[in-house]
Amino acid sequence: MRILLLGPPGGGKGTQSKLLVEKLNIPQISTGDILREHVKKQTDLGKKASNFMEKGELVPDKLILQMMGKRLLENDCLKGYILDGFPRTIPQAIGLDDLLIDLNQKLNKVIVLEVRDNDIVERMGGRRVHLASGRVYHIKFNPPKIEGMDDITKEKLVIRKDDQKDTVLKRLDIYHSTTKPLIDFYSKRNIVSNIDGSKDINAINENIIRNLTNV
Ligand code: AMP
Repeated sequence: MRILLLGPPGGGKGTQSKLLVEKLNIPQISTGDILREHVKKQTDLGKKASNFMEKGELVPDKLILQMMGKRLLENDCLKGYILDGFPRTIPQAIGLDDLLIDLNQKLNKVIVLEVRDNDIVERMGGRRVHLASGRVYHIKFNPPKIEGMDDITKEKLVIRKDDQKDTVLKRLDIYHSTTKPLIDFYSKRNIVSNIDGSKDINAINENIIRNLTNV
């Protein structure tokens, strides 16, 4: 099965993808995670992408499509996958269609996680990360055992640059203007399900699974 998770930044796509990976035994393909790896390793792509990412802007379509063209060719994608954070623009969706034609594959389902802007600002504003491991906490919803410290290493937690308030607001703007039109794009194919993303994590997951069983 090939699934696309759409929704605002910080709307729970990553969390839900991870739960689906366990249940469906197919990989999660997160463009954000792949890009962060490139930035960490200082690859050519990482150097080009980091400036856009820090400012909360989208990395150019051409770079994303090149990266995804390679990723979808990997063996683990043969049994299906969960796309998390891609496509994010209409040109990326058209590019994905082209890639899928070449691979003789089709998207089966688009899940839209609906979360209000105010909730997103609260969720992302409280997020703290341990940079070395990537462990993520939330001051209200998932606090570390000791305030400001990673549970395992006791090292300092920080706010990711793209979680800072101005950046979050900018990312939400981009979501509304550039990514949301994808809902219409895919609705014409009758593969879209809207899910209330403000419920608790397990309830959301059950809803998603219920929608996937009809596919
Ligand atoms: P995420 O972890 O999905 O929120 O992505 C973090 C950042 O990576 C985004 O704010 C963008 O700068 C970049 N990014 C991730 N996916 C894409 C994409 N499909 N198109 C453009 N930029 C992306």
